[in-house]
Amino acid sequence: MNKRYIGRFAPSPSGSLHIGSMTSAFVSYFEAKHNNGLWKLRIDDIDEERSKKNYAEEIIITLEKFALIPDEIYFQSEHIKDYQNYLNELSEKDTYFCDCSRKTLQQLPQGLAGSIYNQTCLEKNLKYGAMRLKADEMKLDFYDQHYGLIKIPSSHKSDFIIKRKEGFSYIFCCVIDDYLQKITHVVRGSDLTYSTPQQIFIQKKLGIISPKYMHHPIFSLNGKKISKSDQGEPVIPENRFEILMQILKSLHQNIPKNIRNYNDLLTQALTFWDNSKVSKSFDIAMD
Ligand SMILES: [Zn+2]
Repeated sequence: MNKRYIGRFAPSPSGSLHIGSMTSAFVSYFEAKHNNGLWKLRIDDIDEERSKKNYAEEIIITLEKFALIPDEIYFQSEHIKDYQNYLNELSEKDTYFCDCSRKTLQQLPQGLAGSIYNQTCLEKNLKYGAMRLKADEMKLDFYDQHYGLIKIPSSHKSDFIIKRKEGFSYIFCCVIDDYLQKITHVVRGSDLTYSTPQQIFIQKKLGIISPKYMHHPIFSLNGKKISKSDQGEPVIPENRFEILMQILKSLHQNIPKNIRNYNDLLTQALTFWDNSKVSKSFDIAMD
């Protein structure tokens, strides 16, 4: 029962694609295509504050210019009903509402996967607020296809939010999306490593088979990860040859010689893609 490999790239359309998100796009693409699989695109466009429709469109066009053509495009905003249906399937005894203020929550200690909640609202029997999933039975170890066994200290265990008053949490949507898109392999940046146990836990609660997880190192600038908020410069498709070169170098791939055009470079890069060469550190320094 060899299931076909189905991978995905799920950028948040809060800004243009930068070198960090392009790295994720390429790694997930190479992994999927190297396994004769499908590569699907997901647009995380439900966080209305951050998402802007024009970014979603821009992302699709940019990927096209890099000749990364998804086998499916999925918009989170079209699946709000699905999120609610799956949320309803969770047992009431596994969840509770929390009405702690933002200020209170900000004072909580920060763990690897977000703040560590002190269960203040566990016994309050609230009818409204943010919904938390009880995490007592959550397993914190998981096997990562790149880094191997990931172990998170149990002190980082915390009842986490799956739905806010404003909408579903990223963690929860991601699980449902991966399921609905039939994703078999999740390939993404190492900044999301520690949210994986939470996602595996939700899958378990919903009786969903977990996909395999592979995280890859992310670019960091002076030890800080590059994200849209601290402005990784948007990639310029006209520079696609240099950009792919830079990404291949940072991932320690064989750089094909005597290639001058982008499409040949992409073909060669895919042919010789070797994930075992990629660094096992969590980030790659960028000058
Ligand atoms: Zn609370």
